[in-house]
Amino acid sequence: MPRQKRSSLVSKQKANKRWCSEHYKKSLNDVRSQVKSAYQSNSAITYIDVTFDGTWLNRGHSSQIGVNCVIDLLIGFVMDFEIMSKRCIECEHAKSDLGENSAEFHVWYEGHISSCAINHVESSCAMEKEAALKLWQRSEDNVYGPWCINHVSKRLGTSLRKAVKEWWTRGVSLGGKSRGSLKEETIKKLSRYYQNAIRSNKSDVEAMKTAIYATLFHSISTDQKPKHFKCPTGKDSWCFFQAALARGEVPGPHVKHVKTPLKETHLAKIMPIYQRLASNELLQRCTRCVTQNTNESLHSIIWGKCSKETSATLRRVIIAVCEFNFGTKNH
Ligand SMILES: [Zn+2]
Ligand SMILES: [Zn+2]
Repeated sequence: MPRQKRSSLVSKQKANKRWCSEHYKKSLNDVRSQVKSAYQSNSAITYIDVTFDGTWLNRGHSSQIGVNCVIDLLIGFVMDFEIMSKRCIECEHAKSDLGENSAEFHVWYEGHISSCAINHVESSCAMEKEAALKLWQRSEDNVYGPWCINHVSKRLGTSLRKAVKEWWTRGVSLGGKSRGSLKEETIKKLSRYYQNAIRSNKSDVEAMKTAIYATLFHSISTDQKPKHFKCPTGKDSWCFFQAALARGEVPGPHVKHVKTPLKETHLAKIMPIYQRLASNELLQRCTRCVTQNTNESLHSIIWGKCSKETSATLRRVIIAVCEFNFGTKNH
């Protein structure tokens, strides 16, 4: 490349860089203050519930560029993002102009290294992890609490398994194969019921709570001690007991109808777990979960702007993020 052309390219790149850093700071500051006021926080540190989302521009066989976003769960703003790249256009030009193994290239590269677009050479999966780490480290004034229903329901399973283990070391068996034991199959079912209870009562914490405890009390019910007071009533109830009552029939035997039986003696031992995972505070966070649609529309805006892989990717992502945030603000 002729010297003149190169120097004009360099000044163009510098201007682009300046534009990006100014707009990046401004747009993220705007969004952060908006989110802070949405959380009605006056303190120096705001605890924000976020989801972490990565999207990849697929070109050829592997992703060359990824954009990772931190999305606030309360109003769905993109709080921050990180671009990870396995390619650098400038490096490619310099290699072809100067020759990859030439002394000139090495001299050029020394000066270029701090602005090289390549910030990742591992797999795309590792790329996502690395971006996550960088984003968390950058969040000086916002403490992110990554949160989503899937993680919460995983926690129920994990906690129940831990309880089985802990009681086992104390000589008490909650597990085993007998009816009503906390076997793996039962734990999985309880986790799924818990997840459904949250999902199907999206913005109503009390309803979530009732639905969660219903699955627990329904499971420990027997013919002698039926405990379906939290189960939904009506002919179409998933609870055989309530459904039979609504139809004016005599409910069938529990042994046949309770699909996830749990010994009543186990209740006291797992109750603290349920109390923790059905607390108002925790369920309140779940009501804020954004839907998958938010992320999909974000991806489409980003990749609509970044259809061409150029050194101006950062600029395009900033524009896309602003557009996405501006859009969500008007919803
Ligand atoms: Zn480079
Ligand atoms: Zn029931």
